[in-house]
Amino acid sequence: MKKFDVLIIGSGMGGLVCGDILSREGYSVCLVEKNKQFGGCLQIYARDKVTFDSGVHYLGGLEKGQNLYQIFKYLGLMDKLKLERMDEVFDRVLMDDDERIYGIAQGYGNFIQRLMIDFPEEEEAIRKYCDTMKSICDRFPMYRLRMEGGASEKIEVMSISAKRFIEQITQNEKLRAVLAGNNMLYVGVGEETPLYVHALIVNSYMESAWRCVNGGAQITKALTANIHAAGGVLIRNKEVLKLLVEDGLVKYALLEDGVRLEAASFVSDIPPAKTFRMAEPPLIRPVTRKRLEAMENTVSSFIINIVFKKDCYPYVKHNYYYHKRGSVWNMAGYNEGEWPLGYALYMAPSSRTREFADGMTIFAYMRYEEVQPWASSFNTVAAHEDRGADYASFKKRKAEQLLDKVEEKFPGLRKCIKTYYTSTPLSYRDYIGNEDGNLYGTRKDYQDPLAALQSAKTKVPNLYLTGQSLNLHGILGTAISGLISAAAVMGRNDFIEKIRNA
Ligand SMILES: Cc1cc2nc3c(=O)[nH]c(=O)nc-3n(C[C@H](O)[C@H](O)[C@H](O)COP(=O)(O)OP(=O)(O)OC[C@H]3O[C@@H](n4cnc5c(N)ncnc54)[C@H](O)[C@@H]3O)c2cc1C
Repeated sequence: MKKFDVLIIGSGMGGLVCGDILSREGYSVCLVEKNKQFGGCLQIYARDKVTFDSGVHYLGGLEKGQNLYQIFKYLGLMDKLKLERMDEVFDRVLMDDDERIYGIAQGYGNFIQRLMIDFPEEEEAIRKYCDTMKSICDRFPMYRLRMEGGASEKIEVMSISAKRFIEQITQNEKLRAVLAGNNMLYVGVGEETPLYVHALIVNSYMESAWRCVNGGAQITKALTANIHAAGGVLIRNKEVLKLLVEDGLVKYALLEDGVRLEAASFVSDIPPAKTFRMAEPPLIRPVTRKRLEAMENTVSSFIINIVFKKDCYPYVKHNYYYHKRGSVWNMAGYNEGEWPLGYALYMAPSSRTREFADGMTIFAYMRYEEVQPWASSFNTVAAHEDRGADYASFKKRKAEQLLDKVEEKFPGLRKCIKTYYTSTPLSYRDYIGNEDGNLYGTRKDYQDPLAALQSAKTKVPNLYLTGQSLNLHGILGTAISGLISAAAVMGRNDFIEKIRNA
């Protein structure tokens, strides 16, 4: 069999972008995906003819000249994607003891104006918040698609806590809660979440907020087509079981059917601990492996996908984030009886969506320990295993509990439900291949900011990492990680200039 220049393990956003760039630059690329569908969190699924996303509910930075726009433009996606711009006030924050709906708006000017309606006394704090967001983002060269610059610029701002920063700029409890109100986007936890994570994620939506009409799998379709057109080989439905090592270098990827694929370099879009566990013989010292294995992950989720009755529930171009007062930074720390302490509510847009919604996704945190009793089962469309009646009743109970909570703020929603489907941490574990169904990879802590930052280069000269474990999660974060990994493989980053000018 042919020897490839680069073999990519996993077809999430990071793997796809890395593969696309490398194949455009003349590298022979082979991408191997364990699932039937390429895309990882970009996968979609249809229920009663309604398309639901597994991990792309909205995107930021897609206005001309903004970072994701430039990347997508360069990769030829902007003409192919069906996008919908969200309302100016794209995220709306709700609290249990407050009838008001607080708005987070696109465009810094709009953002300030909108918050000033609810917090007229807080102009100084709001402006300070905005200036800080922008200046933090400026310190991350690849976020601004800059070729020059490096780690030293960002290190300084990586050890600031998001919660502490917000508490510092304002004494107003409500404003504090609103500024953190969409923190399910990055799993804001207590004091530990660094401000830079908050800034890079939230800034992107504040620049501009968009939905993928008909789902995020359009991105996968376009990127896989690009790789294929450039001569790349795409293999799906085959898990990479082992990375076979010779003389300190990875030589082959061993697939589940026994096929060995040889490449000069390997890029892994799967978690680093799992990547190194696949190496045979081991590539890293037991102490390093232990450190990787011990890294804590972000919490997982419980999701309800609702199919609405025809022409019943109004379609809106914004999202809602709810939290119980006092718990915005601790929604994953719930007790059984008080769950959920927060939820997010996203519409599922399709090209036939007009006045009424076809579907909606409700998303709340769920810790993996809750599904531990069924952890030994494995269930995907391709490899179906029934997890049993008690699992079905657990899901039903949780769904009803979550719907009751949502109905408090959205009375009448239940009446419009035709049917609903649920997913748990086990669904994400089995479909994405991470071990605990975690949302966004490893947890980041402002007190030890470098611990969770993986470099694209590993100690093994021909093994590279990409995807959300690298620096930042999200479609933007992983697209950037794909660029970083491609640059690491090639030993040059001149293509960034082309992206800037696309
Ligand atoms: C519920 C949820 C909602 C989200 N909402 C948004 C959103 O609205 N906007 C946004 O920007 N981001 C969102 N995200 C985050 C975003 O989707 C992810 O950060 C991003 O897609 C992860 O990309 P990745 O490159 O790390 O790869 P992943 O998506 O993690 O994909 C990894 C791939 O590797 C494959 N794989 C694993 N092991 C093997 C193996 N041994 N052999 C072969 N293949 C293997 C998996 O099957 C998978 O396809 C959301 C995530 C979740 C979970």
